[in-house]
Amino acid sequence: MAATRKPNMAAEKVKMPEQEPDVRNKNFKEVALGYTKEMAIEEATRCLNCKKPFCVDGCPVNVPIPRFIAEVVEGNFEEAYKIITEENALPAICGRVCPQESQCEGKCIRGRKSEPVGIGRLERFVADYHREHGQVIKPEIVRNGKKVAVVGSGPSGITCAGELAKRGYEVTVFEALHKTGGVLSYGIPEFRLPKALVQQEIDTVADLGVDFQTNVVVGQSITIDELQEEGYEAIFVGSGAGLPRFQGIPGENLNGVYSANEFLTRVNLMKAYMFPDRPTPIKITETVCVVGAGNVAMDAARTAKRLGAKNVYIVYRRSREEAPARAEEVHHAEEEGIIFKFLNNPIAINGEDGWVKSITVQEMTLGEPDASGRRRPIPVEGSTWDIETGTFIVAIGQSPNPLIRNTTPGLDTQRWGGIIVDEETMESSRPGVYAGGDAVTGAATVILAMGAGKAAAKAIDEKLGGK
Ligand SMILES: Cc1cc2nc3c(=O)[nH]c(=O)nc-3n(C[C@H](O)[C@H](O)[C@H](O)COP(=O)(O)OP(=O)(O)OC[C@H]3O[C@@H](n4cnc5c(N)ncnc54)[C@H](O)[C@@H]3O)c2cc1C
Repeated sequence: MAATRKPNMAAEKVKMPEQEPDVRNKNFKEVALGYTKEMAIEEATRCLNCKKPFCVDGCPVNVPIPRFIAEVVEGNFEEAYKIITEENALPAICGRVCPQESQCEGKCIRGRKSEPVGIGRLERFVADYHREHGQVIKPEIVRNGKKVAVVGSGPSGITCAGELAKRGYEVTVFEALHKTGGVLSYGIPEFRLPKALVQQEIDTVADLGVDFQTNVVVGQSITIDELQEEGYEAIFVGSGAGLPRFQGIPGENLNGVYSANEFLTRVNLMKAYMFPDRPTPIKITETVCVVGAGNVAMDAARTAKRLGAKNVYIVYRRSREEAPARAEEVHHAEEEGIIFKFLNNPIAINGEDGWVKSITVQEMTLGEPDASGRRRPIPVEGSTWDIETGTFIVAIGQSPNPLIRNTTPGLDTQRWGGIIVDEETMESSRPGVYAGGDAVTGAATVILAMGAGKAAAKAIDEKLGGK
């Protein structure tokens, strides 16, 4: 039903209740607490229900945003959920972690003069409402007898698997870790994305008949060739970009140096904070330094703070404007007491008895834009200084793990490791092998990975002719 009321022309989004910064920086509970029904309806009435909805173009999976928001206005939350999930199988996740400011909300017409409509907040509300009040309706699936394998259970793999299962395919997901979800489980911390909720959205996909097999490292336990020999007519590789990059500065092999991936995996998945009950120790010192300013760096820094570090620094060689993290994450980190040292670059990690003792930092300034379009950081001569710290966490990017590339003859990849695919079909140079998400693009976003999984499922279905 379309909204008929007069739009609410309030300039700002309805505020989302949050835990106070000084409280939340000591616990792992979710920071943002979500809208009530009343708040959701009030925010939804800010939508102008545009004839040409630019927000939909801004969404990589084309959620019919004005249609679902119109249902929220009327209080038809279950109908809104149905509309969202026509296109997006993971709305509770996307509502929480999508960079809406550069996607749907970035295109919202209200954003030209005031704050855009809080599309992410509304998506989150609808998904949470459904989880708490909705009925599980299992779609009727007619099996077509064709087998498809999916490598990796991150957002690209889950989406591809769900879309194919709905179309009748027998889908098996092979996951290297003991837990499904990819970065959603091992990377993004509980205080931004509760794990129970991730599990629930994965369960919805499992309910479509998808078989999840954990502890299977494709390329080691079984190869792509062997999967094809076993009768999988198509294979989707959604193995992500889990190989951390390092700066290559002196001292990186000292104790107390972590890649952000290792640090977050130890905490999120292996419960390092429960040491010695869990055999995954992690050393948190009074001061912790994180290098990088993307979402991963923010997550590592905020996690270190919650584990008890007193002073947590984020050291980044460019300025705040260039920081790749979502604006909201930088803001939350600042509120929680994270200390930002923009225009500074670690150049050495100094040790004592094999452990990190301090880092030496070089002050930087910005020059002309480089190939990435961002202004190039240039060292300021003679301006180095030290930060005393016992822990140094590297969060400057990740690339795809070479295992699948090295064990799959004929699979073409970029020099940096990304699998090369046809942009439309997502098929690789190996016939019948498709790929998407971070394994193709390098570290990107949840929703782009989902979009790739969806595009590959469509192409696989068209190729295999299943209905
Ligand atoms: C700490 C952190 C915070 C982030 N925050 C955000 C955010 O706020 N918003 C956002 O949009 N994006 C965020 N991202 C990026 C986002 O999570 C990724 O872009 C997205 O998860 C990529 O999805 P994927 O399916 O391609 O890969 P992944 O999520 O990486 O999943 C790949 C899966 O494949 C498995 N795998 C790998 N190799 C094999 C193999 N050989 N055999 C079997 N399984 C294998 C891995 O174990 C993993 O489970 C963040 C990333 C990190 C690390």
